[in-house]
Amino acid sequence: MSVQRTLAIVKPDAVAKRVAGKIITRIEDAGFTIVAAKLLHMSLAEARGFYNVHRGRPFYQSLCAFMTEGPCLLMVLEGDDVIARWRDLMGATDPAKAAAGTIRREFASSIEANAVHGSDSPESAAVEIPYFFSSLELCPR
Ligand code: GDP
Repeated sequence: MSVQRTLAIVKPDAVAKRVAGKIITRIEDAGFTIVAAKLLHMSLAEARGFYNVHRGRPFYQSLCAFMTEGPCLLMVLEGDDVIARWRDLMGATDPAKAAAGTIRREFASSIEANAVHGSDSPESAAVEIPYFFSSLELCPR
């Protein structure tokens, strides 16, 4: 196992439902370290840029609009194998298919408004973290 960093987002649906604190508790109970955090109400351009890899998908416009509905809580998490472990804790994209005990199973409203985001690979994390955080905002390793 290696120490990794990943981008975690508490999406606008979960912030609006006031469950961001419960999600942070899950993160801390899992042993991950929060090395950066901030609230951001994304512009449409910022959401479109972030989800650029999905621009050909039928849900792209709707997803970008959803991500601008209210503020997100953006975080960078650090820990052993944190990229896969955070995604395990999030659960499947569709909350109806997410395992019991996962964040999406408990807090997501739909396949789109699904409470949380996590980078899916070291390569994605290396692009997604600097998309939102400058080096000055990250605690040093
Ligand atoms: P993730 O890695 O589990 O977040 O899933 P993806 O990378 O495949 O999709 C990115 C995000 O797009 C998801 O977290 C959802 O918010 C949204 N999304 C994925 N699939 C669908 C879909 O079939 N319909 C809609 N409306 N949104 C979707």
